Amino acid sequence: MRHLALILFLFAAVCTAAAAEANPFCIVCGKGPLHGRVWMSRWGAICDDCYRLENHCSLCGLPVRPGDGSVKTGDGRFICKFDKPDAVLDAAEAREIFADARRELVGLFGGGFGLNFPEVTVNLFDVDYWSEKGRGDGLHKFGFSSTRKSAGGVCTHEVVMLSGRRRTELAATAAHEYAHLWINENRPVEHAIAADTVEAICELTAYKLMQARGQAAQQNEILKNPYTRGEIKNLVEVERQHGMAFVLNWVKNGTTTNLTESAAAPVPATTTTAGSRLPRLPMQLQFTGLSVIGSEREAIINGVGFAPGDQKRIPLRQKTVLVRCCEIRADAVTLQIDDAANPVNLKMAGSD
Ligand SMILES: [Zn+2]
Ligand SMILES: [Zn+2]
Repeated sequence: MRHLALILFLFAAVCTAAAAEANPFCIVCGKGPLHGRVWMSRWGAICDDCYRLENHCSLCGLPVRPGDGSVKTGDGRFICKFDKPDAVLDAAEAREIFADARRELVGLFGGGFGLNFPEVTVNLFDVDYWSEKGRGDGLHKFGFSSTRKSAGGVCTHEVVMLSGRRRTELAATAAHEYAHLWINENRPVEHAIAADTVEAICELTAYKLMQARGQAAQQNEILKNPYTRGEIKNLVEVERQHGMAFVLNWVKNGTTTNLTESAAAPVPATTTTAGSRLPRLPMQLQFTGLSVIGSEREAIINGVGFAPGDQKRIPLRQKTVLVRCCEIRADAVTLQIDDAANPVNLKMAGSD
């Protein structure tokens, strides 16, 4: 974590006269007007004395000193005054963020992504677990989840997440850990799944939440994270082609250990039987949202992202349909379904 923070902290330039004029005071100690050596951070100019300070913000790398408005977490990480308003240090707030992420994900993926045992204990932790343990592989240990199963099949879920992270990052972690809980409940014992694939499904869940929220920068962070050894990129592609319902169905009904390989030979869709807890596929197509990344727009139809011109298969309860997205407007999409004579107009769910 500390290494990461230092890498993130990029000083753009030293002593540019223009920058020194624009920001003549040190943003850490307030000293100024600054002369001589001036360092630039994302927040403004820093004097040479502050540049040499030992302690840095764990989020942006800015040097911090006592009394400058920064805070210190229980395990000795610092958060600068600029990041403090966006940092989550309170367990009650973390619980809200987790609940929001969970509600949105069920909205995106359908009721089948709910938990059969809905109670989840959510807490923040202060200790930097992986650096304490000196583990080199802990690139994504911002959260942990566990599910205890009692003899009667009752599941007890628990999630802990690292304190002092930005709200959006914490929401991505919450989505990741929630996906673990869902997999814990829904993966049959006999379906062994490769560890990288499990993690990649959880990362994909976080990616989809960030996509739905228009958080393009966070989506890129997820793709760049080497945590799943590149498996996340394969899964994003699988999801693009087959949809999230396919991924979730594979967890429950698949037989292979690796999802990317089995995407070539789709798993039969779940059949619904009385009393089963398998996810019910939707009866019909639903346009539930728009995701905007830069200048690109995607319509979310049954949890699958469609750019104009995209053609994808969507599993419905009765059959799988081939959907081509002809046009995306703010409140409706025009779709060509299978080889129907006329395109259909689908209004955004919830609009009149
Ligand atoms: Zn200073
Ligand atoms: Zn900071």
